[in-house]
Amino acid sequence: MTTITRFAPSPTGLLHVGNLRTALHNWLLAKKQDGKFLLRIDDTDRERSEEAFVEAAREDLAWLGIVPDSEERQSERFALYEAAFDKLREAGRVYPCYETAQELELKRKVQLGRGLPPIYDRGALALSEDERAAKEAQGIDPHWRFKLDHDEPIGWNDGIRGPVKFDPAQLSDPVIRRGDGSWLYMLPSAVDDIEMGVTDVLRGEDHVSNTAAQVQMFAALGASAPRFAHEALLVGKEGKLSKRLGSLSARALRERGLEPEALLSLLARLGTSMPVEAIVRREVLVESFDLSTFGRAPAKFDEDELVRLNAQIVHRLPFAQVAERVPEGMDQAGWEAIRPNLTRVDEAGEWWAVVTGSVVPPTMDPEEREYLTQAVSVAEGISWDENAWHALTAALKEQTGRKGRALFLPLRQSLTGRDAGPDMGALLPLIGRDTALERLRAAAGG
Ligand code: GLU
Repeated sequence: MTTITRFAPSPTGLLHVGNLRTALHNWLLAKKQDGKFLLRIDDTDRERSEEAFVEAAREDLAWLGIVPDSEERQSERFALYEAAFDKLREAGRVYPCYETAQELELKRKVQLGRGLPPIYDRGALALSEDERAAKEAQGIDPHWRFKLDHDEPIGWNDGIRGPVKFDPAQLSDPVIRRGDGSWLYMLPSAVDDIEMGVTDVLRGEDHVSNTAAQVQMFAALGASAPRFAHEALLVGKEGKLSKRLGSLSARALRERGLEPEALLSLLARLGTSMPVEAIVRREVLVESFDLSTFGRAPAKFDEDELVRLNAQIVHRLPFAQVAERVPEGMDQAGWEAIRPNLTRVDEAGEWWAVVTGSVVPPTMDPEEREYLTQAVSVAEGISWDENAWHALTAALKEQTGRKGRALFLPLRQSLTGRDAGPDMGALLPLIGRDTALERLRAAAGG
């Protein structure tokens, strides 16, 4: 059977790193099994869903190279949910409820006050036909709950958590439909998972109790349940990640100039027993993906780690992959000379300006100026065809007896206007003979 996974965002905000991680894991799981990965837009909540967030989600996934095999939208599938609802209703598995939010809140408080778990008491099930009619005559539109079968223990073998068991009597019958007829997440998701042939549901552990109810829903709809796996949540430095943590949205990270590979490398393995390392080739992530390496403890998302990985990725990016993003005129040699000094590709401009722009001559002591004057005459005499830096420094070392910092630093400062930076051996040929001489002369005092 072909593995089919899905990522099912509700388009009510921008995707953040926690959502992307779920998307990535589902994609990796599908790829590893040569299966299919679906993007399902959970947009039954018309008021809170926005088209702009649907587009943003597509864009974010495309940026990461997570390409869905197809896209589905719940808002186009209401007829299916209606049919499933009717079926469950006929089977006595959904029932109308009339409590207001305040009444339910009060019941919960009373239960908690008595030290009882706040489980829905099925008060609505006890209503007689007449009582229900009276409620409806008062203009109360019922909301609907799925009736859990208390005689049917719930269990599944979770791909991450191992065997999970629930006593259905310890769960509230979940509300599946509101008084205005709109759908909550539970039923449409189960219907779609059945309809779309989803074989593996991999999602956050905040869904574990939903899964418990959905396991019975699948059975009530006459379908077998998919495999489930619930991953520990991702936490940020501030605790729980929420969609509103704008700075950790995919978009914000993209706009900060981070490479998709850095994010993929981090998210693929964070919270697993595999090492987090900079990985450029997606196939490596696919091949090594393994749910049995996932831990139960919340995984901590650390932005500094992301930046470190980004630098490691940038140091390995071939010119062809960045050609469109580097400053005008920068060629492969320029990129390769500068790349080891970058944390992000967009910093290349700064260093390219050092090569091609003008450099403020550093102020030098008389002794250094004398040394640089010598450097000028050596530089005039050496061959610039290859290894100019080596030729320059070897000759100066011999003439002056300088070595280490004293030998190199004044040259670097004069040639780049900075104390540190890319390897001078690679940089000097890019600066070129004429500019190099000009800069050395300027630093030597004209
Ligand atoms: N729309 C749901 C959410 O964003 C999907 C959960 C699921 O994967 O079933 O939480």
